[in-house]
Amino acid sequence: MENLNTINSALKAVSLVRSATLDTLKFMANTYQSSKDVEAEMDPNKNNSYMGELSSLSNVLETRVRELETACTLLYPTLSSINLANTELIAQDPNYEKTTWYPDMVISYRWLSNTQEYSTLAFQALQTKFSKRNSRYRQRTSNRVIQNHNLNNHSIDIFIGQLQRSFDTMPIEVVRPFGVFTVLKIVLDRTLRAVIVLRGLVIEWVLVKSFEENFEKLTSNNLAKISERNPYATNFIDLIQDDTMDIWKPSRYKVFRTITDHCNAAILHFYAPFQMDSAIKYFLQWLRSYSTLFSAVCRKCDSRLLNDMPPTWHDFRTHEPYHFECRPY
Ligand SMILES: [Zn+2]
Repeated sequence: MENLNTINSALKAVSLVRSATLDTLKFMANTYQSSKDVEAEMDPNKNNSYMGELSSLSNVLETRVRELETACTLLYPTLSSINLANTELIAQDPNYEKTTWYPDMVISYRWLSNTQEYSTLAFQALQTKFSKRNSRYRQRTSNRVIQNHNLNNHSIDIFIGQLQRSFDTMPIEVVRPFGVFTVLKIVLDRTLRAVIVLRGLVIEWVLVKSFEENFEKLTSNNLAKISERNPYATNFIDLIQDDTMDIWKPSRYKVFRTITDHCNAAILHFYAPFQMDSAIKYFLQWLRSYSTLFSAVCRKCDSRLLNDMPPTWHDFRTHEPYHFECRPY
C-alpha cells in the first residue's frame, strides 16, 4: 500500500515536470524574435524583464525535476515475478519495507539458479570431453556406480591392486603416512621415482625425483619419530608443515623438477570427476611413457638434448616425447 502511494506521488511529479517544461517552451516560443528585430529594438528594460521571467520559469522546472528525483529514489522494483513458494508470504508482511528478508531471498535464489545452470553446463562439457577421449572405455564402465572421493581405504587398496596388474613393469607401493590420504610410491624402471598423493581417487599432488633420490622420510618409522617430536601433529596440515616431511621438497635435478611441473599440469588434463578410477589409469599410462626419458629423441627436432635438457614434455594423448620448446600447440 505504501508502495502504491509512492508510485502515485512519482506519477504526479512526472506530470508537474511535463507542465513546467511546457510552460518554459511556450514562453520561449511566444517571445521569439528574429535577430534583426532584436538589434532594431535594443531596449534594455524589456530585455531584463524577459531574462527575469525565463530564469523564474527555469527555477520552477529545476524544482520539479528535483521532486521527481526524490520520488524515484523511494521506488523499488517489484519482485513478485519469481515463484518462491511459501516464502512469497513474507512479501505480504505489512512490515515488508522495513526488513530485507524478501529481497535477500530473491538475490540468493538467483545465485542458486545461476549456479545450477553453470554446473549443468560444466557437467555436460566435461562429459563430452571425457567421452570423446575415452569412448571405448566409457562404454565398458558406463554401468558402474559413480564413485566419489569418500572411498574407504580398503576399496582404494583393491583398486590399486587391480591397477598394479596392468602396470607390472612399474611397481606401485601404497602407503598412508597422513592417515586418510593415500600416497602411491612409484618406481619407473631405473629412470625416476614418483609420489602421487590421492584424496579418495582424486590425484591431489605429484612429485617426481630421480631414481637415485628417495622419499624415505615417508616411512612409518620416521613418522613415529615425528609424532614423538611433535605430539600435536595429529592431522594432515600439522604433518605436512613439519620440516622433516619430504613430499614437497623438489628434486635437486632440473629435469625432474620440470617433469613434476608437467605432471601437475597433466593431473588437470586427466581429471574426470565422474570417472576418477580411469583418470588415474590414464595418468599412469602417460607417466609410464617417461621410462625412455633419456633414450628417446624429440619427435620434432629429432635430437636428444636441447638446452641441455632431454625431451621432458610428453603429449597427453599420444605420449610422444617433445622438448618443452618443441611441443605442438
Ligand atoms: Zn625438440
